[in-house]
Amino acid sequence: AAVTRTPLIAGNWKMNLDHLQAVAFIQKLHWTLRDAKHENGSVEVAVFPPFTDLRTVQTLLDADKIPFALGAQDLSVHDSGAYTGEVSGVFLAKLRCRYVIIGHSERREYHAESDDVVAAKVRAALRHELVPVICVGETAEDLEAHGASAVPVAQLKTALDGLPAGTEIVVAYEPVWAIGSGQAATPEQAQDVCAKLRAVVADALGADAAAATRILYGGSVKAANIAGFMREPDVDGALVGGASLLVDEFAAIVRYQ
Ligand code: PGA
Repeated sequence: AAVTRTPLIAGNWKMNLDHLQAVAFIQKLHWTLRDAKHENGSVEVAVFPPFTDLRTVQTLLDADKIPFALGAQDLSVHDSGAYTGEVSGVFLAKLRCRYVIIGHSERREYHAESDDVVAAKVRAALRHELVPVICVGETAEDLEAHGASAVPVAQLKTALDGLPAGTEIVVAYEPVWAIGSGQAATPEQAQDVCAKLRAVVADALGADAAAATRILYGGSVKAANIAGFMREPDVDGALVGGASLLVDEFAAIVRYQ
């Protein structure tokens, strides 16, 4: 991670922790991290609870002045209207969400989200000043057929196509074979793809945006392997799934150095 970018450690809770469990979890995490470096802004911590938790978590973060950023796990391409079951970026922005995960491999796989849907959701996020955390990554079959970088590079190009120079985004490189498998990529593999993704950001959004954009690695990140990823120059943090549900483990990831 380059010193010019603030590392981002993001916890993707997926469909875990109801709003009552979320309160207990956030309080414990805040207590556990009370003397950690995120308190002075040198690492940013973000949590991505289920939609039904967001209001409760927002209220708790505000009331106790807890310095975690809040994000949602998805949003609608639409802003309002007859879209049963969808959640608008307007609502997320009103809940003080700063981030929204877009194009997670579980959405791509189980909800058939294409690269075009992902691109439309990126635009929906940006309309409401939400920072999209754009997830890209290759499956095991893609890896076999095309190597590691071809699919994530193509996915990111489509997501960024036509955006104005300087747009603030976060990219998460998550090899699908590494998610929830216990089998993380090596730091070298992650660096190789993240460097190529940064070149895509440079082409689409300009050199300054590429230098400022945080590119995260995700897929079986835990306390025991985070430091290796963070030593790589183009890896600026992690998107953490399973380990983000364990207070001590997630706190240890935040304290990676
Ligand atoms: P994992 O999930 O850390 O459980 O592998 C990562 C993710 O899906 O974002």
